[in-house]
Amino acid sequence: MTSPWTRKSWGRTAVWNSSGTPCPCSSNKEGRLLRFSNRISHMDTSALRNVLALTARPDIISFAGGLPAPEAFPVEDLRRAADKVLSARGPAALQYSASLGLSSLREKLARRHRAQGISCTADDILMVSGSQQGLDLAGKVFLEPGDAVLCENPTYLAALTAFRSYECQPLPVETDDEGMVLEDLERKLAAHPEAKLMYIIPTFQNPTGKTWSLERRKGVLALAERYGLPILEDNPYGDLRYEGEPVPTLKSMDTAGIVTYMGSFSKVLSPGLRLGWLIAAPALLEKYASAKECADLQTSTLSQMVADTYLEDNDLDANIRRISALYKKRRDLMLSCLERDLPAGASCTHPQGGLFLWVTLPEGIDTTALMPVMAARKVAYIPGVSFFAGQDEKRCLRLNYSNASEDQIVLGASIMCRVFRDALEK
Ligand code: PMP
Repeated sequence: MTSPWTRKSWGRTAVWNSSGTPCPCSSNKEGRLLRFSNRISHMDTSALRNVLALTARPDIISFAGGLPAPEAFPVEDLRRAADKVLSARGPAALQYSASLGLSSLREKLARRHRAQGISCTADDILMVSGSQQGLDLAGKVFLEPGDAVLCENPTYLAALTAFRSYECQPLPVETDDEGMVLEDLERKLAAHPEAKLMYIIPTFQNPTGKTWSLERRKGVLALAERYGLPILEDNPYGDLRYEGEPVPTLKSMDTAGIVTYMGSFSKVLSPGLRLGWLIAAPALLEKYASAKECADLQTSTLSQMVADTYLEDNDLDANIRRISALYKKRRDLMLSCLERDLPAGASCTHPQGGLFLWVTLPEGIDTTALMPVMAARKVAYIPGVSFFAGQDEKRCLRLNYSNASEDQIVLGASIMCRVFRDALEK
């Protein structure tokens, strides 16, 4: 079948969308032409999906996903909270509710954040369906096709795909052990004064596990203020500190109201609840709320009520201390295995919290090309190249140490390091 937008060009059928640009398309089982948006071609997540499918296999030792430990979930406490919600307020929990989110939950979150230095009330908070939705809403609120988004290099892979889905251009800024390099940020801002947004993960960063110094935080905030650039500060790991002193969030120092802060229950309570939140200045929160309503009306009433009741009846900080002790043990074990077995010339980060560390191998290794060898030896990680915006960096990888047991860490790290050493000797 030929659609009105199908033209013959160079002997092939080209399909055009209504704005006159070529349109991604494929045929369905009946041979009918399906015309897609340009946007969907920027959302190719299949490579990552394949890695994660591999890691779901029970015979694989996975350092790939960002999954909390199964023992980290307070299953009994959440079961009691869910029972209480459904028996005391069942119909309300199963009903639609306010698009900003449950006010008693937002009040509790505002209290927690005030104690951490962020001046806010429940009115400054919008509940979202996981902070991943916050990334998408930021795209909806700020980005047009072609817009630049400044981000750390490397950065969270699913943030890159979320922003790319708005056909924008991630603009990577150099980072070192203290965070974004201010000289490079200033250079990029001067070259791209039209940049629309800056996305950062200053504490226990994904993928590197690094934490920015206070000076860098202040420097980045000052530059963003000077250029009128909104900042999206993503902090899903900040509470999982198992050594060192907390460093203030950018939001806690944001007097100009340019920072949107994103929090999440995923790593401190449960990702299955799909609960995150945004904290932003009123005019901006209003825009996020409109985008949220268009996306999914509201965040799950049931999940919010369960989390609210959990917070009412339990000590979240005690749960965080328990999880942090577990992850510290796993980090220490992973680091000692890597220090012993990585090939000479390799290095890795020493995160003070969070779920990830980052390995840089000597030149000559391609961590993507080694994936099939690793899979055959039943170990998985995420190759570093996935986290860079447009940089063909071959010798890095991200390791998650929260989800594997101690025995698996010892065995998996030893197999993985042997494969790296063998590859270098070839
Ligand atoms: N931001 C970062 C940096 C992440 O690592 C993740 C998940 N791993 C998310 C956002 C999304 O988390 P969630 O939607 O579960 O809150």
